Amino acid sequence: MRINRSKILISGLIIFLLSAFSLAGTESKALILQEMSWVDVQEYLKSSDMVIIPLGSTEQHGPHLPLGTDYYEAMEITKTISEQTGVIVAPVLWVGYSLYHSGFQGTLSLKPETMEQVLFETVEMLMKYGFDRFMFFNYHGGNNIVQSKVIHRINHTTEAIAISIGHGSTLQKEADEEEEFFDWHSGKNETSIMLYLRPDLVRMDRAKKPKITFTPKMKELRELAKKYPELLEVWSSLLGVPAITKKEGASHELSNNGIWSFSDPNEATIKIGKQTVNKMIKKAVKFIKAWKLAKK
Ligand SMILES: [Zn+2]
Repeated sequence: MRINRSKILISGLIIFLLSAFSLAGTESKALILQEMSWVDVQEYLKSSDMVIIPLGSTEQHGPHLPLGTDYYEAMEITKTISEQTGVIVAPVLWVGYSLYHSGFQGTLSLKPETMEQVLFETVEMLMKYGFDRFMFFNYHGGNNIVQSKVIHRINHTTEAIAISIGHGSTLQKEADEEEEFFDWHSGKNETSIMLYLRPDLVRMDRAKKPKITFTPKMKELRELAKKYPELLEVWSSLLGVPAITKKEGASHELSNNGIWSFSDPNEATIKIGKQTVNKMIKKAVKFIKAWKLAKK
């Protein structure tokens, strides 16, 4: 009798805990389009018309981070956003616009107009089934121009609505402001993010502070910017441009090992990475929950 009663109590407790967990509904499995069947998508569309498209790149990220860094960042972050909002993530591209990194081996790049077309045709396909609200989550600065163009094209030529919820979005203004001046690419900040998201792909034994070389023109602008900070706008437009422009602002012309930063990647920590990533996730999740309140 006693045994039976405690058995009942324990199973009751388990059922209670399980239902409380599922009712909370804040954490569930991420919905990745390629991992679902058409039946799952049909079911999903009965209650939602939202989809997130992550954008990243395959480009050099210094000697210590993988070429797919931006892709993994966009993917891991959108997975968590999906877990917390129940919105489908539909990855279509591993590659972005990265021509200026091609002085380092392995970098892939699509022309901005090619990338825009691929994304637009993806949206057209998804629209056929009833998807109507598109969110792009970009994690590569070089893609910002494509992201703006495709969003504009969707909003001005179709019945769907598209917005940006990652880098380059007004939602993520804070994340786009630099913690440390010029810690743009594979430095302390980005290494921290990868240590948090994909430590298995980070080679800290190879992490080394880069030697950065600026042209006399860039140096002059930086000097003047001490008094006239608005000139940093011109300075930054000289950086991250393909070698063909002869501005000497391509990756391999600026940095001896591909890292763009004055920081030391060896100072990276999981804690910094976690803070940066969680801030972005929080902003995106808050936005999606609010947008869900608006009718389809
Ligand atoms: Zn990156």
